[in-house]
Amino acid sequence: MDGHNLDKIVAALGDRVLVNEPMSLHTSFRIGGPADLFVTVETIAELSGTVASAREQEVAYFLLGGGTNILVSDKGIRGLVIENRADEARFEDPCGETILYAESGASLNRLAQQSIRRSLAGLEWAVGIPGTIGGAIVGNAGAYGSSIADVLLRITVSDEEGAIGQLPAEELGFGYRTSKLRGQKAGSSQQAVVLSAELALTYEPQRWLERKVAPRMAQRKATQPSQPSAGSVFKNPTGDYAGRLIEAVGLKGYQVGGAQFSPQHANFIVNLGEAMAADVKALIDLAREQVRERFGMELELEIELVGEWNG
Ligand SMILES: Cc1cc2nc3c(=O)[nH]c(=O)nc-3n(C[C@H](O)[C@H](O)[C@H](O)COP(=O)(O)OP(=O)(O)OC[C@H]3O[C@@H](n4cnc5c(N)ncnc54)[C@H](O)[C@@H]3O)c2cc1C
Repeated sequence: MDGHNLDKIVAALGDRVLVNEPMSLHTSFRIGGPADLFVTVETIAELSGTVASAREQEVAYFLLGGGTNILVSDKGIRGLVIENRADEARFEDPCGETILYAESGASLNRLAQQSIRRSLAGLEWAVGIPGTIGGAIVGNAGAYGSSIADVLLRITVSDEEGAIGQLPAEELGFGYRTSKLRGQKAGSSQQAVVLSAELALTYEPQRWLERKVAPRMAQRKATQPSQPSAGSVFKNPTGDYAGRLIEAVGLKGYQVGGAQFSPQHANFIVNLGEAMAADVKALIDLAREQVRERFGMELELEIELVGEWNG
């Protein structure tokens, strides 16, 4: 990264910019080296303005939602990290059905809970899933056989050319924990950015929705570790479970440095306190290698590796 361009973006964004900000403060793993520059945006105008400035100065940027699905390297992130806290949301009933309009920095879990309180079905699977609407769309977050793709109508996006427009959900290439936006030019000066989203929700009695959610929350509490993590590390291979495979090769509870395959849920790697990204990466590589050797299967990452990993 050209230091000159970084100076220009600092001048453009003013004193809101933090220099060498530890990413460990902004990820659910509590892991990650410094971002050269870090700025928090609170509104959609600030979000699109900041993205436009970074593009103009050709500064690589990384769009951070809740930081709940990423492992940031120990060397950190070159360029600018934009933390998205644009979180306005409203429910509207134009003609019988309810549309939820949400800015991309809104909390998925909070919107799911608000929907239930309004007797609106469609997001109840998302209660307990951390992160933002933007992050959920990029990774097609889901649980219990449902995902955000099922209820998403369209997004407003600043595309890789910087043009702002709407895209219908059908054009987002949704698959299991993925979309065509995932990894698209991430960490360059052309990452596509979800600005806001429209979701279609339907009526269901609040009591029914609550009855669906309560046992799932109890199950999450019982099966998921409480230490810092980024949720499931690997995608489940077709017809199998990554956690079962990790356990079968004897890695459940295995520790490297401060990172461990959780004894509670083998597909979660937890930070026991002082874990480095390299510790987590070593566990990832080990599981992949052993599962490949023993079962001939490739474990695919569900979490995203972000930042400078080579050299
Ligand atoms: C305890 C725990 C439980 C979890 N359970 C589940 C679960 O049941 N199901 C599930 O699917 N996931 C689960 N997750 C993973 C995580 O919560 C989801 O993947 C979540 O949707 C990530 O959102 P985020 O805002 O934190 O994204 P981040 O981690 O901040 O970012 C992820 C990716 O999305 C990109 N991104 C974020 N916002 C935007 C935007 N506005 N525009 C463009 N790109 C953007 C980032 O650049 C990055 O590439 C869990 C995580 C934890 C810690």
